Order: sequence, then structure tokens, then C-alpha cells
Amino acid sequence: MNGMSNMPTTLQAPQPVHQLQPFKSLSNDELTARIRAVRKKFGPKLLILGHHYQQDEVIALADLRGDSYGLSQNAANSSQCRYIAFCGVHFMAETADILANRPGKLAERNGERVAVVLPDLAAGCSMADMAGIDQIEDAWDQLGDVLDTEDITPVTYINSAASLKAFVGCHGGIVCTSSNAEAALRWAFARTSRVMFFPDQHLGRNTALGMGITLDQMPIWDPYADALGGSSEEQLRQSKVILWKGHCSVHQMFRPEHVRMFREKYPDIKILVHPECPREVFELADESGSTSKIIKTVESSPPGTKWAIGTELHLVNRLKQEHPEQEIHFLSPVVCMCATMYRIDLAHLCWSLENLAAGAPVNVIKVDEDTARWALVALERMLEVK
Ligand code: SF4
Repeated sequence: MNGMSNMPTTLQAPQPVHQLQPFKSLSNDELTARIRAVRKKFGPKLLILGHHYQQDEVIALADLRGDSYGLSQNAANSSQCRYIAFCGVHFMAETADILANRPGKLAERNGERVAVVLPDLAAGCSMADMAGIDQIEDAWDQLGDVLDTEDITPVTYINSAASLKAFVGCHGGIVCTSSNAEAALRWAFARTSRVMFFPDQHLGRNTALGMGITLDQMPIWDPYADALGGSSEEQLRQSKVILWKGHCSVHQMFRPEHVRMFREKYPDIKILVHPECPREVFELADESGSTSKIIKTVESSPPGTKWAIGTELHLVNRLKQEHPEQEIHFLSPVVCMCATMYRIDLAHLCWSLENLAAGAPVNVIKVDEDTARWALVALERMLEVK
């Protein structure tokens, strides 16, 4: 795999017909009306995708609501869609581009590409940014001095840059989501005796502990350590899962004392958390799961159930509004919201859609061919384990 760089995304940047600034002074009602007008003009050719963590006024305009993989997959499967406005973060738009423009889909559309727009390019993901491709290639080289890297399967959480997914695909590895991380680890252990898990140490640790792997078999690889990610050769030789030192800045905020506080105040409360939370919180929870599982768990619970939920604030608040028959609390006294996702507001969405309608798309996310090809290999392996 040649030419894979730290920034595999090519931004096609024609001059916008509309500048962003004037959109910022419009009211939400005006912006909503203008977004609806563009939406009507495009009909089924346009899909506005809204991630569960997105703010309410944006979610209200989304054609599809979901998690990153589900949204990308559903949009890619739409035969009429030619434009995607992804109200999420950068790696999600990359995944949408890879899936919607994979060779089979391009052939179905006679080569016509789907343009994926990220309304604000500053909507990144702090977790994905903690695993730069240069750091990963350096780690792999260093590991090769101590271990046989042919006997290590790299596994990456879908919350990662396309360049990391491509690295994983090229080295016999697999992508996972928070719903199938255990299945992906089993897939990996059927092939090699070790795994390197990127970029979320918490999802990797929580999943591996559930499979009976012990903490001393899970050294952390710190890309900023002087050598060997901060571990000794012995620790690496004894490892089963090497955990990349990354985390989600949102889920990292939930603490064991928050769980204890809720249990003291409401003895019959149930704690429901995302597996990106630290182990100390995850182990105290009654239930855990992906955003989709959290939603389904609440939806299927009897009225009067009390919950303290440890995931992104917008999703928890929406669950509260949609399920007044249950008592839902946010599992933290401090605000834990995805600040980068929050950058996608109505002004950016309207601005990007009106430029699209004017034939001057802005913020188009296009993953280069080589990176997309290998990232797709890793994503397709994930489908094998579903
Ligand atoms: S919630 Fe965490 S993992 Fe998800 S996009 Fe935001 S920073 Fe990234």
C-alpha cells in the first residue's frame, strides 16, 4: 500500500457561491425553512444523516438518524442517493464515502460518485485524532523488533481515520463497532495469538476483560513514550491485547463516584453506560452497550424504570424527552457532550446545502483510492463477523 499519508482525505474546494458568515446571523426558523427548500429540490438524491449525538434542531432535519456505521451503510444502500450531508464528524463522512463509492456501488451507478459533505470541516473526533498514521506505523516498526508482527492482528474501532482503517486492512486486520468488538476480537484470535487494538483503550479493555483476558496481558501503547510505547519487552511478550492509548473525551468524563452518587440517592436505579467509558465505571454498571443498544434498552423497559445513562448528553436528553414514562438521568454532574459534533449547526448545514444546490459543493470528503481500497478490506471483514 503506497502513498498512504496522514491526511488521506482530499478536499475538493471550488469557490463557494455562498459565504458562511451571513448564515450565522439567520434565525433557526429561517435556516430550517431554507434547509427544507434545498431538501425538497434534491428529493431522494440527497440524504441528510444525523448522528445520535447531534443537537436536536439538526436531528429534526435528518432523513436518517443512527450511529456512524448504520448511517453510512444505509446511505450507501440507497440507489437514488447522490449527495450525503453527514451531520456527524470527519471519520464518519470518510466511512460514508468509502462505502457509498466502493467499486460495486460505483458500477451500479455507471461510475457516478456520491458526494459526501461534512458541513463543518472542524468537526473532528478527539479519539480518532489520538492515533495518527505516522504514530501507528512507528509503533508497528518498534513492535517488529520484539515480536513477530505476522502474529499480531490489528483491530480498529470504527471511530478512527480512514488511514488507520487502511493500515489495519493492509495488515490482515479488521474494523469493529461497539456492538461487535468481542466478535472482532474472536475473529482476530482465530488467526493470531495477539491483537493490537486501536484507538480506544477503554472499548478494547472492557471487551477483552469480558473474554477472560487479564489486565497484565493488556499493556498500553503510549505513542508519546520514549520506546516500545512505554512497556518492557517482557510485558509485550506476555501480552494478548496491546491497547493503543486513546480515549473518547466525552465518555472519559464519567467516574465511579457518579455511579455511587446515583445508587445512594435512588437505590432502585439502573446504570446504563457505553463501553467507551473507563473500566471502573463499566464494571459498576448494570447494563452497557452501543448507542443503538442504549436506545433499544430504554425503549423496551417498563414505565417507571429509573436510569442513569453514561453517554453523550444530547442523546440522553433526547431519550428523556421521548420517554417521559421513564425517569432518565444523565450519569454525571458535569456536561459531557461531543464538542466537535456540536459544531455542525443549522448555519453550517444550510450554507453547505445551498452551495451544493448552486453547483459549488463545499467540504466534500473524498478518501484517496488506495486508502479507500484497504479500508474497505477491513470494513468488509467486519461484515464476516456480524
Ligand atoms: S463522542 Fe467521542 S468518540 Fe464519538 S465523535 Fe465525539 S469525541 Fe469522537
